[in-house]
Amino acid sequence: MSRSAHPAGPRHADVLTEGHYSGPPADLNALDPKVWAQTVERDEHGVLAVGGIDVKRLAEEFGTPAYFLDEEDFRARARAWRTAFGDDADVFYAGKAFLSRAVVRWLHEEGLNLDVCSGGELATALSAGMPAERIAFHGNNKSPGEIRRAVEAGVGRIVLDSFQEIVRVAHIAQELGTRQRVQIRITVGVEAHTHEFIATAHEDQKFGIPLAGGQAAEAVRRALKLDGLELIGIHSHIGSQIFDMSGFEVAAHRVVGLLKDIRDEHGVELPEIDLGGGLGIAYTSDDDPREPYEIAKSLTEIVTRECEAARLATPRISVEPGRAVVGPTAFTLYEVGTVKQLDGLRTYVSVDGGMSDNIRTALYDAEYSVSLVSRGSDAEPMLCRVVGKHCESGDIVVKDAYLPGDLAPGDLLAVPATGAYCRSMASNYNHVLRPPVVAVRDGEARVIVRRETEEDLLRLDVG
Ligand SMILES: *Cc1c(COP(=O)(O)O)cnc(C)c1O
Repeated sequence: MSRSAHPAGPRHADVLTEGHYSGPPADLNALDPKVWAQTVERDEHGVLAVGGIDVKRLAEEFGTPAYFLDEEDFRARARAWRTAFGDDADVFYAGKAFLSRAVVRWLHEEGLNLDVCSGGELATALSAGMPAERIAFHGNNKSPGEIRRAVEAGVGRIVLDSFQEIVRVAHIAQELGTRQRVQIRITVGVEAHTHEFIATAHEDQKFGIPLAGGQAAEAVRRALKLDGLELIGIHSHIGSQIFDMSGFEVAAHRVVGLLKDIRDEHGVELPEIDLGGGLGIAYTSDDDPREPYEIAKSLTEIVTRECEAARLATPRISVEPGRAVVGPTAFTLYEVGTVKQLDGLRTYVSVDGGMSDNIRTALYDAEYSVSLVSRGSDAEPMLCRVVGKHCESGDIVVKDAYLPGDLAPGDLLAVPATGAYCRSMASNYNHVLRPPVVAVRDGEARVIVRRETEEDLLRLDVG
């Protein structure tokens, strides 16, 4: 990015991140339904509301920063995934995207299953009444204690991620006098078109057992021999924030290839195939996600075709969307604290949160959009960078944003599409208190995860 001396002014495009210059939007007050939760709208004064409650009232009652989650939208998206895949497939919501007891209850009511990847997520799921048989347990290094709790609870499947874990789970299941249903996670060698840190199916990485070199086939051989295990299928998760279905196509082709080899070698047809999650959502208007029914149709066709070619009965498919269910359903509400114009360089707008409530910009260079939501404005667009309050210059919420030129301290800004991987990755950096998650529906707002307090922080500090 260049730092050439330009006249101070709101619209110097030269400071935009290279390749992302698209100019100011025609109307800063417009809300793109792609990035905002379903019930979000503006009133005649330009004040944004969700679930029938306006953000000024929400800010007053719950404070800022805070995440506001559109419960109606969450349920609608969960239901859309469920309906799209029908009764011949299973949808597992990836709990790591955002998990709370209310969410677990909604998922249960809407007929979804749940992925967990730690003892904490398992405890949350069980405590909110998710039936254990509808829980899948993932992770590349589950502890023996976590495995024991999962087997004791009776989870529907454990996804095995290494040779050591095959033996570990088998022993624990045997000790407990049971046979654990398991899948083996393999890496199929696909590079999903996504950020390096969120692409997980190429082989040089910590997840899964490589198909290449026969390691996955060897894992199957070992799992089939162990009395403590019931091998029900093969699992593949190729990455996150994926829009292009071709990665899934290659993955399905290779997984089905392995199922065929297993049939030929062992005479067994494994009944299930899990294609993971990773379906992309719109963070900005430039993103064009697919609808669940299109994804379901496409994945089902791919698997059916591959299985017919391999003369295999089509296995039961499962998918694991996280972001695509919860991501678009929430926005983060911030209050503007300062607006700092650096002549010829850039305008910095500081809000009362930052990398502690949204690490994705710093971690993945993620792009977000942002809007002034406590009022409408006809002021000229001002190009700025929205930053947090943390002691870190990488503490960026939105790298390049157009906001009205009359933006002032006390205004409320909202960043949409923060339902996934924001609260769940939140930290206490600078001893900042993690924001609450407030579910809004039909004119009622309800805290589902409360704001942290200084007491909470000090309770852990026992020195
Ligand atoms: C993270 C993850 C998911 C969900 O990914 P999204 O991008 O949120 O859809 C699904 N399955 C596994 C195994 C994962 O690790």
